[in-house]
Amino acid sequence: MKNVILVRFNEIHLKGGNKKYFTRLLYNNMRDALVGIDCKVENGVNRLIVRDYADEDLIVDKLKFVFGVHSVSPAVEVDNNKEEIEKCVLGLNFEGGFKCRVNRADKSFPVRSNDFAADLGELILNNKKQVFVDIHCPLVVVNVDIRETGKTYIYTKTIYAYSGLPLSEHRDGLLLLSGGIDSPVAGFCMAKRGLRQDLLHFDSFPYTSKQAKQKVIDIAHSIKDIIGAKYMYICSMTKMQEEFHVNCKQEYAINLLRRAMIRVANALCSKFSYKTIITGESLGQVASQTIESLTSTNSVAEYPVLRPLISLNKSEIIEMAKDINTYDLSILPYEDCCTVFLPRNPITKPKVSDAEQEENKIPYNELLNAVINSIEVIEL
Ligand code: ATP
Ligand code: MG
Repeated sequence: MKNVILVRFNEIHLKGGNKKYFTRLLYNNMRDALVGIDCKVENGVNRLIVRDYADEDLIVDKLKFVFGVHSVSPAVEVDNNKEEIEKCVLGLNFEGGFKCRVNRADKSFPVRSNDFAADLGELILNNKKQVFVDIHCPLVVVNVDIRETGKTYIYTKTIYAYSGLPLSEHRDGLLLLSGGIDSPVAGFCMAKRGLRQDLLHFDSFPYTSKQAKQKVIDIAHSIKDIIGAKYMYICSMTKMQEEFHVNCKQEYAINLLRRAMIRVANALCSKFSYKTIITGESLGQVASQTIESLTSTNSVAEYPVLRPLISLNKSEIIEMAKDINTYDLSILPYEDCCTVFLPRNPITKPKVSDAEQEENKIPYNELLNAVINSIEVIEL
């Protein structure tokens, strides 16, 4: 009898000929997530198994944030042997209404699933105190998973993770990370679909403070393992924003800033081979997130812009931010570059041609190149 943690995946089962590749990726990502923690990870048949560990809770907590993991169950591992299974089931410590559920993947096991579940139920009833069978609403489900590998796993607890797909090997995404609530959640959502991302933040020093920058670096550190980030780029938009402020129509200031952000992201994508840009925009949340505003920013994008939060309400985003532990950092009260030179009436229906006209009023390419050349790179 050995204590192990049984790890299940779901969507990977649909990967046909690529299933092996994705399982391997998940295995590698689990190992990365558990680096420095005493344990062994084993790539089994349709399951992954963690063994030889001391701190079960710590491992379960880490695995919850490994995408591709559907659920985990701390279990006892025995051989596919009737007596051994019965002994193990009797050793479980519980009270109240229960039922037994048997999964017989090993078809050579001599008793059929339903019959064995009934036998085990009876055995428990006859040998344990303060238990009763409750088929419809049991407090405890005794699961017996008889695998084709010759091993059986017995468990009563299942902890659900986020499912999704394992983080890719390459960092293909560039997440525009502000100091707000939305963008870390956007990064989380895309990571859940397997997109590993680096980060790009814009500040407007000295209009924005060193503390504001540090806050975003802290957010980056708190999500780096979840989204697989290695680098954070920090880009100062001060010069461009000053030019927009002095020379361009004020109602266009935010729209011009957004377009400049996307152009900087384009340059980084091209230089470092990112394939897509991610933002935390949500339709209609503010003036810069109307269909017309998004059309204007999209028109300068040279890479697909992914906006996983586009259909979410702020309250839903906040719930997710709390779940991934970024909320408390995000609500610290520091200014963002978008709040510097904020126009009184930002345009809600900008026209691409008008935005271009505004950009032509300043030495745009020169300014953009200067901004790009001054990017600071932080290794997280
Ligand atoms: P968040 O959306 O993260 O809560 P916010 O509400 O202050 O922050 P918005 O004005 O809603 O920001 O910006 C929409 C999106 O644009 C952000 O989710 C982020 O992806 C990007 N963005 C805004 N400001 C910045 C910034 N300073 N640096 C990098 N990206 C930014
Ligand atoms: Mg927002």
